[in-house]
Amino acid sequence: MKKSILDEKHFYNEKAAFAYVESIIWKDGKNCPHCGGFEKLYEIKGKSARTGLNKCGGCKKQFTVRIGTIFEDSHIPLHKWLQAIFLLSSSKKGISSHQLHRTLQITYKSAWFLSHRIREVMKPSGEIEMMGGEGKIIEADETYIGNKGKQARGARGWGHKEKVFSLVERGGKVRSHHVQLTNVKTLLPILQNSVKKETILMTDEARQYKKIGAEFKQHGVVVHSRKEYVRGNVHTNTIEGFFSIFKRGMKGVYQHCKNNHLHRYLCEFDFRYNTKDNTDSERADVVLAGVRGKRLTYKIS
Ligand SMILES: [Zn+2]
Repeated sequence: MKKSILDEKHFYNEKAAFAYVESIIWKDGKNCPHCGGFEKLYEIKGKSARTGLNKCGGCKKQFTVRIGTIFEDSHIPLHKWLQAIFLLSSSKKGISSHQLHRTLQITYKSAWFLSHRIREVMKPSGEIEMMGGEGKIIEADETYIGNKGKQARGARGWGHKEKVFSLVERGGKVRSHHVQLTNVKTLLPILQNSVKKETILMTDEARQYKKIGAEFKQHGVVVHSRKEYVRGNVHTNTIEGFFSIFKRGMKGVYQHCKNNHLHRYLCEFDFRYNTKDNTDSERADVVLAGVRGKRLTYKIS
Protein backbone atom coordinates (compact mmCIF):
# COMPACT_ATOMS: atom_id res chain seq x y z
CA MET A 1 0.00 0.00 0.00
CA LYS A 2 1.14 3.52 -0.73
CA LYS A 3 2.41 5.55 2.19
CA SER A 4 0.29 8.46 3.39
CA ILE A 5 1.83 11.85 2.74
CA LEU A 6 1.52 12.50 6.46
CA ASP A 7 3.78 9.49 7.09
CA GLU A 8 6.71 11.46 5.65
CA LYS A 9 9.33 11.65 8.38
CA HIS A 10 9.74 15.42 8.21
CA PHE A 11 6.16 15.81 9.47
CA TYR A 12 6.89 14.17 12.82
CA ASN A 13 10.65 14.01 13.34
CA GLU A 14 12.45 17.27 14.14
CA LYS A 15 15.82 16.16 12.71
CA ALA A 16 14.17 15.07 9.46
CA ALA A 17 12.27 18.37 9.36
CA PHE A 18 15.54 20.31 9.56
CA ALA A 19 17.12 18.14 6.87
CA TYR A 20 14.09 18.68 4.64
CA VAL A 21 14.05 22.48 5.04
CA GLU A 22 17.85 22.63 4.60
CA SER A 23 17.61 20.66 1.36
CA ILE A 24 15.32 23.34 -0.05
CA ILE A 25 16.72 26.55 1.40
CA TRP A 26 20.35 25.53 1.00
CA LYS A 27 19.92 23.67 -2.26
CA ASP A 28 22.71 25.75 -3.81
CA GLY A 29 24.93 25.22 -0.78
CA LYS A 30 24.77 26.18 2.87
CA ASN A 31 25.50 29.80 3.69
CA CYS A 32 25.76 31.78 6.88
CA PRO A 33 22.67 33.99 7.35
CA HIS A 34 24.71 36.46 9.41
CA CYS A 35 27.62 37.25 7.08
CA GLY A 36 26.54 35.43 3.91
CA GLY A 37 29.68 33.31 3.97
CA PHE A 38 29.75 29.94 2.19
CA GLU A 39 33.06 28.69 3.60
CA LYS A 40 34.22 27.29 6.90
CA LEU A 41 30.76 26.35 8.04
CA TYR A 42 30.48 23.38 10.30
CA GLU A 43 27.73 21.52 12.08
CA ILE A 44 27.79 21.48 15.84
CA LYS A 45 27.29 17.90 16.81
CA GLY A 46 26.98 16.20 20.16
CA LYS A 47 24.27 15.20 22.55
CA SER A 48 23.60 18.65 24.00
CA ALA A 49 23.70 20.51 20.66
CA ARG A 50 20.44 21.93 19.36
CA THR A 51 19.05 20.31 16.20
CA GLY A 52 20.44 21.83 13.05
CA LEU A 53 22.95 24.08 14.81
CA ASN A 54 25.89 25.33 12.74
CA LYS A 55 28.84 27.62 13.31
CA CYS A 56 30.38 30.03 10.86
CA GLY A 57 34.16 30.19 10.95
CA GLY A 58 34.05 33.57 9.20
CA CYS A 59 31.95 35.61 11.62
CA LYS A 60 32.15 33.10 14.50
CA LYS A 61 28.37 33.17 14.93
CA GLN A 62 26.03 30.23 15.32
CA PHE A 63 23.00 29.65 13.15
CA THR A 64 20.34 27.19 12.05
CA VAL A 65 18.34 27.17 8.83
CA ARG A 66 15.54 28.96 10.72
CA ILE A 67 17.51 32.23 10.97
CA GLY A 68 16.28 34.92 8.60
CA THR A 69 13.10 33.00 7.76
CA ILE A 70 9.50 33.06 8.95
CA PHE A 71 10.55 30.35 11.43
CA GLU A 72 12.91 32.63 13.32
CA ASP A 73 11.70 33.75 16.75
CA SER A 74 9.11 30.99 16.79
CA HIS A 75 9.06 28.37 19.52
CA ILE A 76 6.97 26.01 17.38
CA PRO A 77 9.01 22.95 16.32
CA LEU A 78 9.93 22.90 12.65
CA HIS A 79 8.02 19.67 11.92
CA LYS A 80 4.79 21.35 13.08
CA TRP A 81 5.54 24.28 10.78
CA LEU A 82 5.87 21.78 7.93
CA GLN A 83 2.51 20.28 8.83
CA ALA A 84 0.91 23.74 8.85
CA ILE A 85 2.47 24.67 5.50
CA PHE A 86 1.26 21.44 3.96
CA LEU A 87 -2.28 21.82 5.30
CA LEU A 88 -2.56 25.44 4.16
CA SER A 89 -1.08 24.66 0.74
CA SER A 90 -3.24 21.64 0.08
CA SER A 91 -6.65 22.70 1.45
CA LYS A 92 -8.57 24.12 -1.48
CA LYS A 93 -10.72 26.41 0.68
CA GLY A 94 -8.06 27.14 3.25
CA ILE A 95 -7.77 26.04 6.87
CA SER A 96 -8.82 28.09 9.87
CA SER A 97 -6.54 29.04 12.76
CA HIS A 98 -8.97 27.19 15.03
CA GLN A 99 -8.48 24.01 13.03
CA LEU A 100 -4.68 24.42 13.04
CA HIS A 101 -4.82 25.07 16.79
CA ARG A 102 -6.67 21.76 17.31
CA THR A 103 -4.74 19.65 14.79
CA LEU A 104 -1.25 20.87 15.66
CA GLN A 105 -1.97 21.12 19.41
CA ILE A 106 -0.59 24.65 19.64
CA THR A 107 -2.31 27.72 21.11
CA TYR A 108 -4.84 29.55 18.98
CA LYS A 109 -2.62 32.63 19.11
CA SER A 110 0.35 30.66 17.76
CA ALA A 111 -1.83 29.09 15.06
CA TRP A 112 -3.09 32.50 13.99
CA PHE A 113 0.40 33.97 13.83
CA LEU A 114 1.87 30.99 12.04
CA SER A 115 -0.81 30.92 9.36
CA HIS A 116 -0.40 34.63 8.65
CA ARG A 117 3.34 34.16 8.31
CA ILE A 118 2.71 31.43 5.76
CA ARG A 119 0.30 33.71 3.87
CA GLU A 120 3.04 36.34 3.80
CA VAL A 121 5.23 33.85 1.93
CA MET A 122 2.39 33.11 -0.50
CA LYS A 123 2.31 36.79 -1.44
CA PRO A 124 4.09 37.52 -4.73
CA SER A 125 7.33 39.41 -4.25
CA GLY A 126 10.02 41.06 -6.29
CA GLU A 127 9.20 42.45 -9.69
CA ILE A 128 5.65 41.54 -10.62
CA GLU A 129 5.21 40.58 -14.25
CA MET A 130 2.60 42.14 -16.52
CA MET A 131 -0.25 39.79 -17.40
CA GLY A 132 -1.74 39.09 -20.83
CA GLY A 133 -0.29 40.17 -24.17
CA GLU A 134 -0.87 39.47 -27.86
CA GLY A 135 -3.48 36.75 -28.33
CA LYS A 136 -4.01 36.39 -24.58
CA ILE A 137 -7.38 36.68 -22.87
CA ILE A 138 -7.90 38.18 -19.44
CA GLU A 139 -11.15 38.02 -17.56
CA ALA A 140 -11.84 40.80 -15.04
CA ASP A 141 -14.63 40.84 -12.49
CA GLU A 142 -15.50 41.88 -8.98
CA THR A 143 -17.11 40.07 -6.12
CA TYR A 144 -18.42 41.05 -2.71
CA ILE A 145 -17.69 39.47 0.57
CA GLY A 146 -18.86 39.63 4.21
CA ASN A 147 -20.34 42.57 6.01
CA LYS A 148 -18.81 45.98 6.30
CA GLY A 149 -20.37 46.88 9.62
CA LYS A 150 -23.97 46.04 10.22
CA GLN A 151 -26.35 46.39 7.35
CA ALA A 152 -29.32 48.63 8.05
CA ARG A 153 -32.66 46.84 7.94
CA GLY A 154 -33.99 46.70 4.45
CA ALA A 155 -30.72 48.00 3.00
CA ARG A 156 -29.99 46.92 -0.53
CA GLY A 157 -27.01 46.78 -2.79
CA TRP A 158 -23.36 46.04 -2.13
CA GLY A 159 -22.29 49.19 -0.31
CA HIS A 160 -21.84 47.42 3.03
CA LYS A 161 -19.75 44.57 1.60
CA GLU A 162 -16.00 44.26 1.07
CA LYS A 163 -15.08 44.45 -2.58
CA VAL A 164 -12.64 42.18 -4.34
CA PHE A 165 -11.45 42.78 -7.88
CA SER A 166 -9.65 39.99 -9.69
CA LEU A 167 -7.96 39.44 -13.03
CA VAL A 168 -7.36 36.01 -14.43
CA GLU A 169 -5.54 35.06 -17.59
CA ARG A 170 -7.11 32.08 -19.34
CA GLY A 171 -4.66 29.20 -18.94
CA GLY A 172 -2.60 31.44 -16.70
CA LYS A 173 -2.56 33.17 -13.37
CA VAL A 174 -4.95 35.12 -11.18
CA ARG A 175 -4.28 38.37 -9.32
CA SER A 176 -6.73 39.72 -6.76
CA HIS A 177 -7.14 43.10 -5.10
CA HIS A 178 -9.16 44.28 -2.11
CA VAL A 179 -10.63 47.57 -3.33
CA GLN A 180 -12.68 50.32 -1.73
CA LEU A 181 -14.70 51.10 -4.85
CA THR A 182 -15.33 49.42 -8.18
CA ASN A 183 -15.44 52.57 -10.30
CA VAL A 184 -13.22 53.44 -13.28
CA LYS A 185 -10.98 55.60 -11.12
CA THR A 186 -10.11 52.67 -8.87
CA LEU A 187 -10.03 49.81 -11.38
CA LEU A 188 -8.40 51.40 -14.43
CA PRO A 189 -5.00 52.03 -12.75
CA ILE A 190 -4.96 48.43 -11.49
CA LEU A 191 -5.47 47.18 -15.04
CA GLN A 192 -2.99 49.62 -16.53
CA ASN A 193 -0.34 48.52 -14.02
CA SER A 194 -0.84 44.81 -14.51
CA VAL A 195 -2.26 44.05 -17.96
CA LYS A 196 -0.58 44.57 -21.35
CA LYS A 197 -2.52 46.72 -23.83
CA GLU A 198 -2.49 44.03 -26.54
CA THR A 199 -4.67 41.83 -24.34
CA ILE A 200 -8.25 40.83 -25.10
CA LEU A 201 -10.34 41.77 -22.07
CA MET A 202 -13.50 39.92 -21.04
CA THR A 203 -15.95 41.39 -18.55
CA ASP A 204 -19.65 41.51 -17.80
CA GLU A 205 -21.78 44.46 -18.79
CA ALA A 206 -21.13 46.55 -15.63
CA ARG A 207 -20.88 50.20 -16.63
CA GLN A 208 -17.30 50.83 -15.46
CA TYR A 209 -15.90 48.24 -17.88
CA LYS A 210 -16.99 50.14 -20.98
CA LYS A 211 -14.38 52.83 -20.47
CA ILE A 212 -11.82 50.39 -19.12
CA GLY A 213 -12.32 47.98 -22.05
CA ALA A 214 -11.57 50.72 -24.56
CA GLU A 215 -7.97 50.77 -23.29
CA PHE A 216 -7.36 47.26 -24.58
CA LYS A 217 -7.04 45.66 -27.98
CA GLN A 218 -10.44 44.06 -27.79
CA HIS A 219 -13.22 43.98 -25.23
CA GLY A 220 -15.68 41.10 -25.03
CA VAL A 221 -18.79 41.76 -22.97
CA VAL A 222 -21.11 39.08 -21.70
CA VAL A 223 -24.55 40.41 -20.77
CA HIS A 224 -25.54 38.58 -17.60
CA SER A 225 -28.73 40.61 -17.20
CA ARG A 226 -29.96 39.04 -20.44
CA LYS A 227 -29.07 35.61 -19.02
CA GLU A 228 -26.23 35.42 -21.47
CA TYR A 229 -23.21 33.53 -20.08
CA VAL A 230 -21.23 32.35 -23.07
CA ARG A 231 -21.04 33.70 -26.61
CA GLY A 232 -18.23 31.98 -28.48
CA ASN A 233 -15.09 32.74 -26.49
CA VAL A 234 -16.81 35.65 -24.75
CA HIS A 235 -17.40 34.65 -21.13
CA THR A 236 -16.16 35.19 -17.61
CA ASN A 237 -16.44 31.59 -16.43
CA THR A 238 -12.78 31.29 -15.43
CA ILE A 239 -12.90 34.19 -12.98
CA GLU A 240 -16.29 33.07 -11.70
CA GLY A 241 -14.84 29.62 -10.99
CA PHE A 242 -12.07 31.24 -8.96
CA PHE A 243 -14.54 33.43 -7.07
CA SER A 244 -16.69 30.45 -6.26
CA ILE A 245 -13.83 28.68 -4.43
CA PHE A 246 -12.78 31.93 -2.78
CA LYS A 247 -16.30 32.66 -1.54
CA ARG A 248 -16.86 29.14 -0.27
CA GLY A 249 -13.59 29.44 1.67
CA MET A 250 -14.43 32.85 3.09
CA LYS A 251 -17.89 31.72 4.10
CA GLY A 252 -17.08 28.26 5.38
CA VAL A 253 -13.57 28.59 6.74
CA TYR A 254 -12.61 32.22 7.29
CA GLN A 255 -15.96 33.65 8.30
CA HIS A 256 -14.41 35.76 11.07
CA CYS A 257 -11.74 37.34 8.89
CA LYS A 258 -11.19 40.99 9.71
CA ASN A 259 -11.43 43.39 6.80
CA ASN A 260 -7.88 44.62 7.30
CA HIS A 261 -6.64 41.06 6.73
CA LEU A 262 -8.71 40.32 3.62
CA HIS A 263 -5.79 40.99 1.28
CA ARG A 264 -3.79 38.27 3.06
CA TYR A 265 -6.50 35.68 2.43
CA LEU A 266 -6.62 36.84 -1.19
CA CYS A 267 -2.89 36.11 -1.47
CA GLU A 268 -3.56 32.62 -0.16
CA PHE A 269 -6.33 31.84 -2.66
CA ASP A 270 -4.35 33.42 -5.51
CA PHE A 271 -1.32 31.33 -4.55
CA ARG A 272 -3.20 28.03 -4.60
CA TYR A 273 -4.82 28.90 -7.93
CA ASN A 274 -1.48 29.91 -9.43
CA THR A 275 0.13 26.65 -8.37
CA LYS A 276 -2.87 24.46 -9.20
CA ASP A 277 -0.86 22.36 -11.67
CA ASN A 278 1.53 21.32 -8.87
CA THR A 279 0.90 18.43 -6.52
CA ASP A 280 0.11 19.31 -2.91
CA SER A 281 3.65 18.43 -1.84
CA GLU A 282 5.19 20.49 -4.63
CA ARG A 283 2.99 23.44 -3.65
CA ALA A 284 4.21 23.16 -0.04
CA ASP A 285 7.78 23.12 -1.34
CA VAL A 286 7.12 26.34 -3.29
CA VAL A 287 6.18 27.93 0.04
CA LEU A 288 9.30 26.56 1.71
CA ALA A 289 11.52 27.94 -1.03
CA GLY A 290 10.21 31.42 -0.19
CA VAL A 291 10.43 31.47 3.61
CA ARG A 292 13.66 33.43 3.68
CA GLY A 293 13.53 37.20 4.01
CA LYS A 294 9.80 37.20 4.73
CA ARG A 295 9.66 37.92 8.42
CA LEU A 296 6.48 39.61 9.54
CA THR A 297 6.68 42.96 11.16
CA TYR A 298 3.08 43.52 12.17
CA LYS A 299 1.83 42.55 15.57
CA ILE A 300 -0.85 40.03 16.45
CA SER A 301 -4.17 41.79 16.84
ZN1 LIG B 1 29.02 34.11 9.20
